[in-house]
Amino acid sequence: MDSCSKSVRDSSSPFDCLIFDLDDTLYSSKIGIAEALRKNIDDFLVEKCGFPESKASTLRVELFKTYGSSLAGLRALGYNIDADDYHSFVHGRLPYELIKPDTQLRNLLRSITQRKIIFTNSDRNHAVKALDRLGLKDCFEQIICFETMNPNLSKSTLPDEFPVLLKPSMDAMKIALDVAEVDPRRTLFLDDNVRNVAAGKSLGLRTVLVGKTVKSKEADYVIETVTSLAQVIPELWVSGIDSGDEGGISRSKSEIEFIHATTAVGA
Ligand SMILES: [Mg+2]
Repeated sequence: MDSCSKSVRDSSSPFDCLIFDLDDTLYSSKIGIAEALRKNIDDFLVEKCGFPESKASTLRVELFKTYGSSLAGLRALGYNIDADDYHSFVHGRLPYELIKPDTQLRNLLRSITQRKIIFTNSDRNHAVKALDRLGLKDCFEQIICFETMNPNLSKSTLPDEFPVLLKPSMDAMKIALDVAEVDPRRTLFLDDNVRNVAAGKSLGLRTVLVGKTVKSKEADYVIETVTSLAQVIPELWVSGIDSGDEGGISRSKSEIEFIHATTAVGA
């Protein structure tokens, strides 16, 4: 457990917990990760499922749109694909060396005293490797991931016995909120996917759309990069420890300015 997480609860901040998506929320997959992932999925569809090479890309897009992922789609269509095999093929061979440590983001996360949790559709191995490369693994108390949402998948005898659960399905979202043990009204949910943000909003979470410049209907906030949190949601740093003249803001002006300064670069 992270020392900067559960132990301190800010009584005056409107938030007790932050739930972060991983890919394209904490880092941009445009560094070559997304492209490699698309190629690996196409190769899986050809090599493991026997689809013609010329159809693989179109099928991948269709499966993603309809079922949320190629794995979910293949299983729903009756292909008996083992989730671990799929993940080791499509994620296991990603060029993780392209993900670089993000000291600026690490400093920002370490300055947030509320609980911080990862909630990703990816498998645990991928989440751990990406967080490790980013230098952020110890900033989160918990990783809610594919395995958390799909604990019974490996026990299934038929591919459609347990449908694959992923964000933005309500069942997946509810599992995550249950596991995280949070009050949605006091929890900030950050994700780059508009549909995930909408699902979070419908369950009462306060939502942040990441990586865009225009707010979607269900987003309470929009930030282009997660490092601009300090500018957009400064109330995250409000605490009730010293509720003097500043109306509950315990951090000194210079501390807030420091957070802004250290998070502004590249934001
Ligand atoms: Mg994402």
